[in-house]
Amino acid sequence: MKLLTTVNDLQFEIQQLGAESQVGFVPTMGALHAGHISLVKQAVKENRIVVVSIFVNPTQFNDAKDLERYPRTLENDMHLLEPTGCAIVFAPNAKEVYPEPDKRKFNFGKLEEVMEGKHRPGHFNGVAQVVSRLFDMVKPAKAYFGLKDFQQLAIVKNMVKQLQLPVEIVPCAIIREKSGLAMSSRNELLTEEQRKNAAVISETLFKAKELKAQNSVQEIVDWVTETINKNPFLDVEYFEIVDDEQLQPVKNWEKDSTKVGCVAVFCGEIRLIDNIVF
Ligand code: AMP
Repeated sequence: MKLLTTVNDLQFEIQQLGAESQVGFVPTMGALHAGHISLVKQAVKENRIVVVSIFVNPTQFNDAKDLERYPRTLENDMHLLEPTGCAIVFAPNAKEVYPEPDKRKFNFGKLEEVMEGKHRPGHFNGVAQVVSRLFDMVKPAKAYFGLKDFQQLAIVKNMVKQLQLPVEIVPCAIIREKSGLAMSSRNELLTEEQRKNAAVISETLFKAKELKAQNSVQEIVDWVTETINKNPFLDVEYFEIVDDEQLQPVKNWEKDSTKVGCVAVFCGEIRLIDNIVF
């Protein structure tokens, strides 16, 4: 497994390996955990070689403090990746990714007006900038994204369509801690007590799914919000039940589309997201 930091080295290495147009790609911001590793393992199974990028992308952070405290653990990341069969770890610096400031403005219409798009202005524009830049560098045949970032996945798929990129986007299941808490690099920033209490988020989502049959969408929305907010460590920013294509809030359980409940919760200063398919 090679650690590379420049686009030149990356493209030379892919060529040396004779793997052009056969690359599986897993973009990450590092501080890797079993959630990331599951994406990498799936990619290794399905591609000739796998490139994992580690880059904390400044353009997708709408909160300077969040960017500053985002965990950076390259050495440990390398240890976790070594046994997976990943061929290349690409860890560029910001100048390498953005030799010039990226001034592109994407338009994702309604997709970016809800949930993460609404609460983190500019976030998805930054995601689209970095993912399109990285795709341009890695030129993957397939790229792997976690369903934990459900709206991000929809945005990336939409971007690929808009730019007509020759890459298949592969969605991957949410990996959870034993407690049910969705794995996240940000979990590392929680105290032990906060982390224990954060498990209430997924517990509530699972329970909501059981309660679906006897309750309206609005009743479930209210119940989830109240139940999580009752925990003194947790503060719900939003909980919405949306259709899985346009990501617009739904009013009833009619079977015309799959419904997904998406939540963002502050645990102290740390913002956590999760979702569940109803
Ligand atoms: P990040 O490093 O947080 O930008 O995440 C990199 C990729 O890993 C994204 O596609 C995430 O959706 C995915 N990912 C993060 N956490 C999980 C998880 N718990 N389960 C599955 N995929 C995840």
